[in-house]
Amino acid sequence: MSYPMTEKAVSTTPLSPDELNRLDRAHLWHPYTSFTNPPPVTPVMGGEGVYLHLADGRKLVDGISSWWSAVHGYNHPVLNKAVTDQLHKMAHVMFAGITHEPAVKLAATLARITPEGLNKVFFSDSGSVAVEVAMKMAVQYWHSQGQSQRTLFLSFKRGYHGDTFGAMSVCDPHSGMHHMFHHMLSHQLFADAPATGFEEPFQESHIAKFSQMIQQHRQKIAAVILEPIMQGAGGMHFYSPQFLQRVKQLCDQHQILLIADEIATGFGRTGKLFACEHASISPDIMCIGKALSGGYITLAATLCNDRVSSGICQGDYSALMHGPTYMANPLACAVANASIDLLMKSDWQQKVKRISEQLHHELMPCREFSYVKDVRVLGAIGVVELEKPFNTHELTQAFVAQGVWVRPMGQVIYLMPPFIINPEELSKLTAAVAKVIANMAK
Ligand SMILES: *Cc1c(COP(=O)(O)O)cnc(C)c1O
Repeated sequence: MSYPMTEKAVSTTPLSPDELNRLDRAHLWHPYTSFTNPPPVTPVMGGEGVYLHLADGRKLVDGISSWWSAVHGYNHPVLNKAVTDQLHKMAHVMFAGITHEPAVKLAATLARITPEGLNKVFFSDSGSVAVEVAMKMAVQYWHSQGQSQRTLFLSFKRGYHGDTFGAMSVCDPHSGMHHMFHHMLSHQLFADAPATGFEEPFQESHIAKFSQMIQQHRQKIAAVILEPIMQGAGGMHFYSPQFLQRVKQLCDQHQILLIADEIATGFGRTGKLFACEHASISPDIMCIGKALSGGYITLAATLCNDRVSSGICQGDYSALMHGPTYMANPLACAVANASIDLLMKSDWQQKVKRISEQLHHELMPCREFSYVKDVRVLGAIGVVELEKPFNTHELTQAFVAQGVWVRPMGQVIYLMPPFIINPEELSKLTAAVAKVIANMAK
């Protein structure tokens, strides 16, 4: 049967590049951008491996894995098959009172591969929501323990945990990203950003402020929330596993819950499957997202241990009070299962190590530029930090002109390529970084 065409019907004819641009300008919000002074957008028609295919025929090497998620690259036959196989069974079914194999398999796998004790899994659609769920778990846990005065979260400066209200409240309060909502956010506690670099010797003075805060507010704190080992969107800072161990000790000492936000670090990015493994610790609650579905379909999860799950269920609300409509979407779970399987069967440690060494070798010379403040590498993450912030949109365009997709953040230019990248493709990325920085001097 055919539907009558109305003005509102979605046209099936492809848009010309000009029209695409015009309609985008007329109707679409992009992340963190303005309608009155919109920066350029790059139309992408498809992708293959590490390449993004542009409308004008150019191919860009993706240096940031679509915001750190596409670890196996684009258009991967195994991941494509996982989606289409599941599609022919069912695209979605509600999760209240119903279960399905993709979710069951994924939960069992996550329980197996994540740090010890994390064996209850709550699925949601985005990282920010996974953080909201983690915060609700912590508050509900204490409520059930008869300690409903514990509603505060102790977080770290430079931290980033998402864009929704609860998540915003535990992000760095001065980073600018959420500053305009400051007056509406719950007021949380913020310790100084971890001061011990990844390989630096830890000193007790580095954690003095945190230690003092946890002591002073111990009756009111529900949980400490942090990004283990790497503070991501707050500037790609790596810190010492010993620092993380010490935080865990202090949480245990005061019986405060620890939430590890592994949304950026999970699935191998820092050289360990999960960044908590650098410190051999297991948090009470853990959030994952981004690379969970290999960059295919939006999916996130909040895991907790038995202390938290049974603690919550002892209370007068024996249920965890959350339930997204598209919870545990079968397509997303199916592709996540395939992505994790692909990762575990691949020699990912070796790949990340090779990327790490090459990033180190090829980015370190950038230290010679006077306006480069620092160059650092951990796992498959390479960072060039400049002395001051610059125009993200201009730099992004400069990278496109070099044939790569790199989107700097604040004063940080970083590379987080798909793990499948080969040495020539990676060299193209590092050469582009050096070239763009060299051109900034002119
Ligand atoms: C990206 C990110 C989030 C938010 O995830 P979304 O899927 O964008 O909502 C939360 N925490 C960390 C550490 C992240 O890197």
